[in-house]
Amino acid sequence: MQESRAIPIVEVRYSEISLKKGNRRKYEVSLLQNLRDLLDSSVRMEILPGRITLSFDDVSSAIEAAPRIAKTFGVRWAGLGWSIPRDLNLLKSLSMDVVREHCQGTFKLDVKRVDKSFPSTSIEMERTLGHHICSATGLGVDLKAPQLTIHITLLEDRFLLTWKTFDGPGGIPVGATGRVVVLLSGGIDSPVASYMMMKRGCLVNFLHFYSLSSVDEVRGSKIHHLAIKLLEHSRRSRVYLSDFSNFLRYVLNADPRIELVLFRRYMLRVAEELCKRDGSLGIVTGDSLGQVASQTLENLLAASYGLRVPVYRPLIGMNKEEIIKIAKEIGTYDISIKEYKDCCSILTKRPKTKTTVEEIIEWWTRLNLDECVEKALEGLEELELVTRTVDH
Ligand code: ATP
Ligand code: MG
Repeated sequence: MQESRAIPIVEVRYSEISLKKGNRRKYEVSLLQNLRDLLDSSVRMEILPGRITLSFDDVSSAIEAAPRIAKTFGVRWAGLGWSIPRDLNLLKSLSMDVVREHCQGTFKLDVKRVDKSFPSTSIEMERTLGHHICSATGLGVDLKAPQLTIHITLLEDRFLLTWKTFDGPGGIPVGATGRVVVLLSGGIDSPVASYMMMKRGCLVNFLHFYSLSSVDEVRGSKIHHLAIKLLEHSRRSRVYLSDFSNFLRYVLNADPRIELVLFRRYMLRVAEELCKRDGSLGIVTGDSLGQVASQTLENLLAASYGLRVPVYRPLIGMNKEEIIKIAKEIGTYDISIKEYKDCCSILTKRPKTKTTVEEIIEWWTRLNLDECVEKALEGLEELELVTRTVDH
C-alpha cells in the first residue's frame, strides 16, 4: 500500500540483470537477498519495474546505507532520495526543497516516464518543473554540466526522486550464477581471482592449506583477514582449512622437483571432492600463465588432468602489474603483502617446469595420494567468520 507522505529511499538500478530475460527474477531475488544480508531488518525492499527500492525509517539511515548498497555486485548505481505518492504538488515542493538544500549553482532534471499513460511527456515535465524551481529559487538550469541532477521516475502508483547517485561495480549479484570453491592462498592473486568470480555472480567457498601449527594460528592471520575483506561482497561464504603437514607426510620420498606440481594436483583433488559435498560447480585458482614455474602449460595440465569439474583461472592472461592494480582497488593488496608462512615456500624453489601427465600420475599412485586426499577431507576444519570483531 502506498503511503501519503514522502519516504526516504535508496533506488537501486542494475545493468546486466535487465538483460537476462529468462533469469531476471532469479537475479533480482539474489540481489534482494544480498542487500538483505547487508542491511538492517527494518529496511523494506520492493521490486518495481526495472529497479529495486529500499525504504528507510529516516533520512540519515538512507544516507549511511546508500554507499554500502552501491558496492554490491549487480548494482549499476544507487540513488538517494524519496518515494512519494502520485501528487504533482508534492513532487514540486519536494524537488524545490532538494534544490534549496543541495544546490548552490546549476541543476538539471532528468524525468523518466515509466507509466506511458501519464498525461505529460518527460520533456514537458522537465520544463514545467524546471521553470517552477528556477523562478522560486533564482537558480539556473545547465543541461551539460549541472552541479545537481535530480532523477525523477514516474511510475504507475508513485513518483521516485533521487538527487545523489553512487556508482556501483555492475556485474551479477552473488549467488545468481552458482557456487565455486576458491583455492585461497595468502598471496596477491587468489583474492583477486575470487573477487572476479564473485563479480560474475558466484557464491564462493574458500579452501586454504595452512602450514601454521594449528587452526588457532590461522584465526586472526592474514587468511582470516582476506576472507573477511572478500566477505564484504558476500556474507554466505565458508572458509575450509586443511593442514599442509598431511601432504608433507606422504611426499617424503618424492622427487623434490615435482613436489610442487603434486601439491597443486593434491589441492585441486581435495577441492574437487569439496565441490561434490557443497554442490559447487567448479574450482577457482589465481594462476597466471608463466608467472612461476608451476604455472607453465605443461604443469597446469599435469596438475589438473582428469579432474571432473572445471578449473577457472580468471587471471590466466593477466600480468602481475594488472593483478596488483585490482588488488589495490579492492583492498586486498595491503593484507596480501603481510608476512605469512606459505606452504609453497616450504617446497623446492626449483621445480621442474615441464612435468608430464604420466610422470605425475605415476608418482601420485606410488605415493598413495588418493589416500592423502581422503585424509585431508576427514581432517578438514572450518574457520568461523565473525565479521565484526576482527580487526583489519
Ligand atoms: P602470489 O600472489 O604470491 O603469486 P599466489 O597465491 O598466486 O600468490 P602461487 O604460488 O602463484 O601463489 O599459487 C597459484 C595458485 O594456487 C594460487 O593463486 C591459489 O589459487 C593456489 N594456492 C597456492 N597456495 C595455496 C594454499 N596454501 N592454499 C590454497 N590455495 C593455494
Ligand atoms: Mg600467483
